[in-house]
Amino acid sequence: MTHYVIIGDGISGSSAAETLREEDPDAKITVITDEGEPLYNRILIKEHAKGKLPEAPISIHEEEWYEDRDIELSLNTHVTGVDPDAKLVHTHEGADIEYDKLLVATGGTPTQLPVDNSDADGVHHFWTFEDARGIREHAERADKGVIVGAGLLGIDFAAVCGAQGIEADFLMRGDRWWRYALSADGAEIMHDGMREVGVDPVFDSGVDRFETDDDGHINAAVDPNGERYECDFAGVAIGLTFNTEFLRGAGLEENNGIVVDEYMQTNVDDIYAAGDITRFYDVLLGEQAQNGSWGSAKEQGRVAAVNMAADDTEEEFQWVSSYSITHFDFPFLSFGHPTLGDEHAERRYSDTEWRRIAFKDGKIVGGVLIGDLSPQSKFKQLMREQRVVSDQADVLLEQQVDLDELAPTQGQE
Ligand SMILES: Cc1cc2nc3c(=O)[nH]c(=O)nc-3n(C[C@H](O)[C@H](O)[C@H](O)COP(=O)(O)OP(=O)(O)OC[C@H]3O[C@@H](n4cnc5c(N)ncnc54)[C@H](O)[C@@H]3O)c2cc1C
Repeated sequence: MTHYVIIGDGISGSSAAETLREEDPDAKITVITDEGEPLYNRILIKEHAKGKLPEAPISIHEEEWYEDRDIELSLNTHVTGVDPDAKLVHTHEGADIEYDKLLVATGGTPTQLPVDNSDADGVHHFWTFEDARGIREHAERADKGVIVGAGLLGIDFAAVCGAQGIEADFLMRGDRWWRYALSADGAEIMHDGMREVGVDPVFDSGVDRFETDDDGHINAAVDPNGERYECDFAGVAIGLTFNTEFLRGAGLEENNGIVVDEYMQTNVDDIYAAGDITRFYDVLLGEQAQNGSWGSAKEQGRVAAVNMAADDTEEEFQWVSSYSITHFDFPFLSFGHPTLGDEHAERRYSDTEWRRIAFKDGKIVGGVLIGDLSPQSKFKQLMREQRVVSDQADVLLEQQVDLDELAPTQGQE
């Protein structure tokens, strides 16, 4: 009987466990997580922190879910090492668990700012349900906030401050929010959204140090220009550090994440990886890529499991991801790899509508839609078909996109 061991019970690990049970009904399956609760919806914890959603609907699996499927679940168990020669996983409790096939689905941990008092009381990072509980509890009694990290998680902190009535300054390094994917035009819509909820974007700023009161609680952030922002709450979201320390010495190829092929296989026999932690071969993009989103992590877990259970590689990962933000009066969606590509086209339609498409070798590789998400399925279709369309960007930027207006693709390589 094959023993599959999965490290991590986030969406990628959990979806792998579910698929493995379907693919290999007799196998032994073990899921190990250092969190104290089984899978929950990480996307929804921000709604909890905002004070808008109770705990119950956020949970996805009860412990019975694993029992019903004869999957062994080890909560509160931190994996400290992997020995690929002996095929053993070591845990913090000194246990050695033998595996036949191993899936690493350990995601990342929010990176701390390398500045004074970055771990002071009142400075929050956002990844787990426990983090969300702490943020909610503190946000309900905080008055003045500072947010650092002009990306997708930083804006969740802005929304928490807005919903909890915290007046906040959003300290950004450049001249706009998510400058790698948005032009000044698109970002301005997001800045207006922030201002509407009481969050003030501050540009060419950042944090040089946090200051604390005598009890060690944060009371200010000082930016590199020497400006002092008083606050009793801070949210830091400057990126993820991938959870790979326990793989030291195991021989897995890493490149800011674990390198896997399109089958989610690492370079070490019988070890696979899935979810945020991977740098995977993206068959649509034609190069290695990374993706931090729920749908992509879920699909990677499923594909990894299919290949783990098969005698040979069976299914490749092929996915167009999307990530939406629903905090403001207008919707926002990024899809694919909006920060990559060698060319882009964009247009603003109104005070709350904007669109940007990124192309590589003439094919769409990603984009951002603000205000009107209706073209998303058409753009994703063109991505899957890998059609060369950058020379017809005017058709794609029409308010109503009609793919029939595109010239036929005969002769395309
Ligand atoms: C606040 C927030 C909002 C988000 N909003 C969106 C959104 O709107 N849309 C979207 O698509 N995505 C969103 N995401 C991102 C999305 O949640 C992630 O991409 C996805 O959850 C990644 O899943 P994963 O299984 O790869 O990793 P994770 O969910 O990080 O799971 C990894 C698990 O492994 C455990 N682990 C790590 N190391 C060890 C170890 N050594 N031993 C044992 N266990 C270990 C971790 O504790 C964790 O439970 C959001 C994330 C956050 C935090």
